[in-house]
Amino acid sequence: MPMIEGAAPLEGARSVLLLGGTTEAFRLAQLFANEPGVDIITSLAGRTSSPRQPAGRLRVGGFGGADGLAEFLVSESIQAVIDATHPFAATITDHAVYAAQRTGIPLLLLSRSPWEKTEQDQWIDVPDIETAVSSVPRRARVLLAVGRQEAPAFAKRMDCWFLTRMMEPPDALVPPGKVLVERPRDNADEECALMSDNRINCVVSKNSGGPGYAKIEAASWMGLPVIMVAQPPKPDAQRVSIVGDAAVWIRRLFGL
Ligand code: NAP
Repeated sequence: MPMIEGAAPLEGARSVLLLGGTTEAFRLAQLFANEPGVDIITSLAGRTSSPRQPAGRLRVGGFGGADGLAEFLVSESIQAVIDATHPFAATITDHAVYAAQRTGIPLLLLSRSPWEKTEQDQWIDVPDIETAVSSVPRRARVLLAVGRQEAPAFAKRMDCWFLTRMMEPPDALVPPGKVLVERPRDNADEECALMSDNRINCVVSKNSGGPGYAKIEAASWMGLPVIMVAQPPKPDAQRVSIVGDAAVWIRRLFGL
């Protein structure tokens, strides 16, 4: 089991496991940086080679399944769990729900709301990646912004050309075209420039919500279709979509 890095908490501090890997988790840990009474332990899957160092303590790596997570909660005397993982990280969320039920430890899901379609948008809504693969028009030039794990599914579309953007270098077969290892651009003007330089005529995106909207706005400005993959369904658990609301939940729970 991976070690927990960082200074030992104060005696009597309440330990919160924060399942992270998102901007929201990073910001939530930051909000409690100067509160020694709350011991935030951020957990990352370990997919990113040099992640930003969050405030508080940190552990990196899987728990060994849902039962492993439940055992971690008990052995580390965790008093609350916040699942602030990405909306498409469905397995760890299911594990968190199971582990919280098994141990009786309170759980909150902090999960972004999806982006909403505007009148100008030309979205082709699809329920999953497989449908997205088959929905790409024949011979399209595609900005593929679905992340490193999902991009290989498009490799079978040999009739298309893909500008595949990912934050880490690929570790599997990539679709035909060019790979761009970078973060999404911050504004729609820059996304427009990227798309026109590469003669893109279709965008594929997960409906992650939150940051990364610039490419969707740019596609709308340029009149391009976006194949938009819906978020997986959420399990039945208490849920908020805003970092501040998660902070309030922690404070109420501990009477702070
Ligand atoms: P996933 O499919 O839901 O989870 C797969 C396995 O990875 C889990 O069973 C768990 O392993 C481990 N895991 C996932 N998140 C973890 C965490 N925060 N701490 C410790 N172990 C974790 O997850 P995923 O889609 O691969 O995402 C992995 C991480 O990347 C998450 O932290 C997520 O927030 C972040 N992320 C995902 C996406 C996306 O599109 N999926 C985008 C941006 C960031 P064990 O069963 O061994 O415990």
